[in-house]
Amino acid sequence: MDSGIQLEMNFEHNRNRFKSRIQSGEFFVLFEVNTPSRQADLDVSAERLRELEFAVSAIRSLPVGLAITDKYTAGESWHICDFAAALSPEDRDMHLFILSGRDSDAQEMQATLQLCRNSGMANVLAVSGNAAPAENLRQTAGRKFCESVNTIHYAREDFPELFVGGAVNPYKYTPGELYAQYFKLIKKINQGAEFFVANFGWDMMKLQELRWYMSSRGLHIPGLARLMMLTPEKFESIAAGKIPGIQISPDFQIILQNELKYSFTQFEAAQWRRIQLQAAGCKLLGYNGIQLAGLERPDKIKIAAARIREALEEFQHFDDWRKAYQEHLARAEMAPYPYRFYLFNQLFSSAYPENSPRMNDAQMPESSRVEKWYYNLSKFMFAHAGNQSPDEHYWSKHFLVGCSRCNQCRLPDTWYICPKTCPKGLSNGPCGGTRPGWHCELSEHECIHSRIFRLSRWKDEVEKLEENYIPSGN
Ligand code: SF4
Repeated sequence: MDSGIQLEMNFEHNRNRFKSRIQSGEFFVLFEVNTPSRQADLDVSAERLRELEFAVSAIRSLPVGLAITDKYTAGESWHICDFAAALSPEDRDMHLFILSGRDSDAQEMQATLQLCRNSGMANVLAVSGNAAPAENLRQTAGRKFCESVNTIHYAREDFPELFVGGAVNPYKYTPGELYAQYFKLIKKINQGAEFFVANFGWDMMKLQELRWYMSSRGLHIPGLARLMMLTPEKFESIAAGKIPGIQISPDFQIILQNELKYSFTQFEAAQWRRIQLQAAGCKLLGYNGIQLAGLERPDKIKIAAARIREALEEFQHFDDWRKAYQEHLARAEMAPYPYRFYLFNQLFSSAYPENSPRMNDAQMPESSRVEKWYYNLSKFMFAHAGNQSPDEHYWSKHFLVGCSRCNQCRLPDTWYICPKTCPKGLSNGPCGGTRPGWHCELSEHECIHSRIFRLSRWKDEVEKLEENYIPSGN
């Protein structure tokens, strides 16, 4: 952690406007700001943050705040607490601080949570973190990642004053991938997450699907949807698969290419309209607010607040909104062909859930004979590995399951798939970055949690995917 952190202030009052808003159901907007790269001057970046905060505090048309991301766009960025120290101490309770687990172990994450608590950064969203831009698989695998589920667990255990949330990526189009995301979100809620933030996407049916699923499980916790103001450059990066976990379907790519054909102004106007439609849709689908990225300038923030206000007034009924949204997208297919799984048959038929999720066994992935054989052999040999020294049976564990000797072996909790074979070392469920077809974000290999999902189904233990908290192996 950076030695230059200068946050010693104690949070003396209990006001938390972010928490009050999200709990009251008042629709609000967070503007996303990225922690700057270490190559940028921290003072200059901090001054820019103060300007954004000033712009946000001047908005009266709807409730707003900032969402400060951590290690998101830059390989080596300033510590989020260093950057956020520029915010006014009296207003830190309005904002959301997104703590990335990248380059942190358990102790470092606990120290960061303590700093957040001591400096009045009362609202925290835990994420496991992404690979750094242009980093290869080996480089990512050499980093530390504190998993979001573990961060939430530490926050609940040691810093109960913090209001903590978990992220989810609902834009998954095969049954296993989608369920695995939902199960991990429920595990986060079981560990103490009190709200959730859905990752970027443009398929509003997926946002409704998530809301309906939560409701079918009796989980009525508040949620935000993350939206992005697209630029031509961002569009190109996403279409080229360079931004993990974010997808643009072939049909939607054609729409965006058409919008780009004439002028940048026309493209930008189309994006503003899209943000308006998505924001109004989020409200009508039961989200408590949006987290909007791509507008890190005071003038843009002001325009966005006014346009979102207009859209909320324009669309007060679900049917009007649905018609406008579908017309705007020319009824384009938003799923990434050939994957096209939706959990409910009647999405968009109304704003509220009307039927139960379809859990069709025939569509669910099955373990192969070889996987079952490996499972049985590993269980025979390592069933007690969790209580043994990591050195015990090391070579056979290394040979059979790719063990790299964690301090605490978790094989019996992960259906004998070693979590260290995930480049980020995630044991509690998949990250949001998986690519269509449940491929790893970082390689052509299948995500290890795909195999875990199949084995849990074969053993009839799927409920453990949301119930079992798996501690860090370090
Ligand atoms: S193996 Fe799965 S969880 Fe791990 S980095 Fe790859 S996609 Fe993410």
